[in-house]
Amino acid sequence: MARYCIVGAGLSGAVVARALGEAGHDVLVVDERGGIGGNCATLRDPQTGIMTHLYGPHIFHTSDEKVWAYVQRFCAMMPYAHRVQAVARGHVFSLPVNLLTINQFFGLALNPAEAQALIASKTIPQEAPRHFEEQALSMIGRELYEAFFEGYTRKQWGLDPTELPAAILKRLPLRFNYDDSYFSHRFQGMPRDGYTEMIASILDAPRVELRLGESFESLGDDFAHVIYSGPIDRYFNYRLGRLNYRTLEFQVLRSRGDFQGTAVLNYCDADVPFTRVTEHKHFAPWEKERFDETICYREYSRDCRPRDVPYYPIRLAKEQKTLNEYIALARSTPGVSFLGRLGSYRYLDMDVAIAEALAASEQMLEMIAAGAAPPSFFVDPG
Ligand code: UDP
Repeated sequence: MARYCIVGAGLSGAVVARALGEAGHDVLVVDERGGIGGNCATLRDPQTGIMTHLYGPHIFHTSDEKVWAYVQRFCAMMPYAHRVQAVARGHVFSLPVNLLTINQFFGLALNPAEAQALIASKTIPQEAPRHFEEQALSMIGRELYEAFFEGYTRKQWGLDPTELPAAILKRLPLRFNYDDSYFSHRFQGMPRDGYTEMIASILDAPRVELRLGESFESLGDDFAHVIYSGPIDRYFNYRLGRLNYRTLEFQVLRSRGDFQGTAVLNYCDADVPFTRVTEHKHFAPWEKERFDETICYREYSRDCRPRDVPYYPIRLAKEQKTLNEYIALARSTPGVSFLGRLGSYRYLDMDVAIAEALAASEQMLEMIAAGAAPPSFFVDPG
């Protein structure tokens, strides 16, 4: 019986593995890490019992009913509403930029229309912003940009904001009301027992075999098809060069009680070397009172070197060119499809990763049934 291989036991790989297994196909999921979950992985801190987001804060949010229903099959989603505060120039502000932020920042008490007029007087309109800075200036004006975005973005990306795509900022809303929810999606929550447990339940499917601590390259087996959710350049042994990423380093802080009063506090000033501090127990409001101790991660961003864990794809012109070459190479390589954040070299929210993996599974099953070869990509990564 033909067997399928899924490389990577993260969210994308798990969703496809389950779909193929449930449809009656044998599946081998292989991951060279010792654990599942990819960069969504969580673990109860052995010292305190606090559920810790091992690769930085992950908040589940979506407006996709199908995705929301899907995750709830595999975990108890607990109510959680993500809010972020930002430290800038010695003061704490509300993010994303909303009416409270504007009033705090300018020391005013404006209503929505007045705030809108004030911001309009400060913005530098651009029809088609060419980069992050133009996008920010046309959205919020120079003062708010310099306070909240310029320094943070330099630290996060290690680049001048004029070199970065405008799209990065488009992820964040601007609101002229007091809604300080970080996300604008209809559904939001946190898996009660963590993402690793959720992904373990997805992988707990008929005909799905999991092998951890083993690299795909070391497998000698023959497969009917490979679904590769690792870095696309690695699949080809970097023969066309490396795609660059930012990686994160976490300095663990331990304390008692409540360290910072919220889950995520951003540090926007350029002279503070870290970007944010995450206090993990605040991700679990339903159980946080149980813990006297607390654990925080102070987050530092830097360029990803060969043995580091890749986090954020840096899609600048140079990487885009290399990516296009890999895409062309992938399209001429039979027997493998690329999927997920690393497989397609894109920033992907978890809900998008699931939606794409569900759609990919459907397409793949149809093609298998028709005796056709699955495509190299299920979503155009270009
Ligand atoms: N950003 C910023 N200041 C902040 C928060 C975000 O300049 O306080 C910028 C930064 O460039 C970041 C982008 O907005 O990369 C997207 O922010 P988001 O919170 O979505 O980043 P993530 O949580 O994915 O790292």
